[in-house]
Amino acid sequence: MSIDRLQMAIQKSGRLSDQSRGLLKSAGIKIQANKGQLTARATNFPLDLMLVRDDDIPTFVADGVCELGIVGENVLGEYALGRPEAGIEILARLGFGRCSLKIAAPQEEEFDLSNLEGSRIATSYPLLTKKWLADQGISAEIVTMRGAVELAPRLGIASYICDLVSTGQTLEANGLKPVQTVLESEAVLVRTGREIVPDHAAALDQLKTRIDGVIQTSESKYIVLNAPESALDDIGRILPGADAPTVIPLAGRQGHFAVQAVCQESVFWETLEELKGAGARDILVMPIEKMML
Ligand code: ATP
Ligand code: MG
Repeated sequence: MSIDRLQMAIQKSGRLSDQSRGLLKSAGIKIQANKGQLTARATNFPLDLMLVRDDDIPTFVADGVCELGIVGENVLGEYALGRPEAGIEILARLGFGRCSLKIAAPQEEEFDLSNLEGSRIATSYPLLTKKWLADQGISAEIVTMRGAVELAPRLGIASYICDLVSTGQTLEANGLKPVQTVLESEAVLVRTGREIVPDHAAALDQLKTRIDGVIQTSESKYIVLNAPESALDDIGRILPGADAPTVIPLAGRQGHFAVQAVCQESVFWETLEELKGAGARDILVMPIEKMML
């Protein structure tokens, strides 16, 4: 670690680590390979990484040991409720590590929200769960567990659980079903609330601009299609998140045009079907490699 370089905390190994490194790579940052080390160094950018357990990332960022961090909103949210003065700020939502914190009930139960009243709920997220319950006007007992929360109902420790779910497979395997959503979560880029020295602030701005570019690019697509003049207005309305498209006459085909546009929102099959329905033909959707707006 060196004080003339920006410090960023990312998960050492787990669900967020590959994509956290992938994001930095897409932002053009080369990280020196390391095996079993707690830190890693960028070779072409003034950045050091601290490779830690995800639970420790908010602490490092709050205390200013690291100016930046990549962490799930679930972990950040739980930390912030326990330490509201920490002042960690979300700089960007990163679009990976998506999951939801959900209340789950036994599969055979006919669930109603009022069932939670006076019950015991096992969770690794006691503060988020407590807050959600309070918002719903429900009082229940929280049983805090570090892991294997989904076993709690079977063991008779609690009647319900509040746990992270992505596909729901783990719940199902344990005879549970999701019944309420407490929090939708994804990985976020966070910065410390502490003051950042000017040298680091410049690097931080540069890194943030590049990361914003990567996020934009991953969602954006370049669309090319052909269409008759009569369809151009409709097509302009359908193209998701596009500024005015470029419209070029097609050689030798009177009244037909090529349309090109950068779409800054996801382009789904449904969008293509809609475009075709409006009269578009030969529709191509292409990835964009880099973008700076
Ligand atoms: P660590 O050793 O770093 O403490 P961990 O076991 O607490 O790791 P992981 O299971 O690697 O954490 O998950 C890290 C983050 O990935 C979670 O906090 C959450 O934000 C996100 N995530 C995405 N999908 C899921 C899922 N299905 N279950 C749990 N976490 C998920
Ligand atoms: Mg953890």
